[in-house]
Amino acid sequence: MFENLSERLGGVFDRLTKQGALSADDVKTALREVRVALLEADVSLPVARQFIKAVEKKATGASVTKSVTPGQQVVKIVHDELIAVLAGEGEPGALKIDSPPAPILMVGLQGSGKTTTTAKLAKRLTERDGKKVLMASLDVNRPAAMEQLEILGKQIGVATLPIVKGEDPVTIAKRAKTQASLGGYDVYMLDTAGRLSIDEELMQQVEAVRDVANPRETLLVVDGLTGQDAVHTAENFDDRIGITGVALTRMDGDGRGGAALSMRAVTGKPIKFVGLGEKMDALETFEPERVAGRILG
Ligand code: GDP
Repeated sequence: MFENLSERLGGVFDRLTKQGALSADDVKTALREVRVALLEADVSLPVARQFIKAVEKKATGASVTKSVTPGQQVVKIVHDELIAVLAGEGEPGALKIDSPPAPILMVGLQGSGKTTTTAKLAKRLTERDGKKVLMASLDVNRPAAMEQLEILGKQIGVATLPIVKGEDPVTIAKRAKTQASLGGYDVYMLDTAGRLSIDEELMQQVEAVRDVANPRETLLVVDGLTGQDAVHTAENFDDRIGITGVALTRMDGDGRGGAALSMRAVTGKPIKFVGLGEKMDALETFEPERVAGRILG
């Protein structure tokens, strides 16, 4: 479907004489192709522009050894820069969950994979990190969503807060905190309500929950296939709620991963996890190298 960037640049450089260093003209020519590749991978235009500028500075005058073609050299510089932008600080996927019970707030739009990701992450924390986890659904408008979390909890062997009809999200969050403290839980996860689009009521509700829970981590779950919308969503949630990281779902689909680069560049917040399917094990730590490879095609 997409032409590989290396091949594309190879074609461009066939027309140029091989020199010991990349000239400003070579770089400009190559970066035109890189720009197209970024936009095809769904990187937003301002982010693509900014990225190209950074690469241009690094690539102009860079030496080309005999073992590589100028095209390969540009691809390497682009690849390294992609990783530099995508990589967060510290260990990928690390969460601040010391001082138990540590609250993790899960936020995002309806259908983004929030409930599934909550359960996947709870499973990972339980099995991989040996944590005792409690999950609570705050989606009072959708009883089915509350039941879905309960069913997933049973399936993965993770406790869920009993559902009490008629409670508001803030009360549920407080009850989760109490139960987590009394029950000796290391972590409690609050799966907030999703909406089809960002609206004021949703934001106020999540703000109120954030204020009582004082979360150690606030993870935004976004559908990796939604491209530019994902970036817009991340910007909005970060402005209003203040996220600490992103979980990018549906990366098993054929999206090119440009949203990851844009979100990272726009919010400055790390992508911590990647959803790779519907199964409870299909959650992985974000690997900048893999996404960089995907963006380059
Ligand atoms: P929520 O409304 O945000 O809580 O979304 P759900 O967790 O209910 O997920 C919506 C649908 O997306 C469900 O059918 C999930 O199985 C599916 N889903 C969630 N994460 C992924 C993923 O990483 N890959 C794929 N292919 N499907 C996913």
